[in-house]
Amino acid sequence: MAKKKVKNKVSPKIWKKYKVSGDKLERSKICPRCGPGTFMADHKDRYYCGKCHYLEVRPK
Ligand SMILES: [Zn+2]
Repeated sequence: MAKKKVKNKVSPKIWKKYKVSGDKLERSKICPRCGPGTFMADHKDRYYCGKCHYLEVRPK
């Protein structure tokens, strides 16, 4: 029986994004607080970091 790892409490949304846009990482916004490796959730009009809850308004 394999033990499930529940250590990492990372938003699944972020991982999904990371996976899907693997070849277009430039498109993903990187969190200025957490640094490279932490991508912000892509919302309609803003970016949101699920790690440090940093919010940035998306430029049009
Ligand atoms: Zn962050």
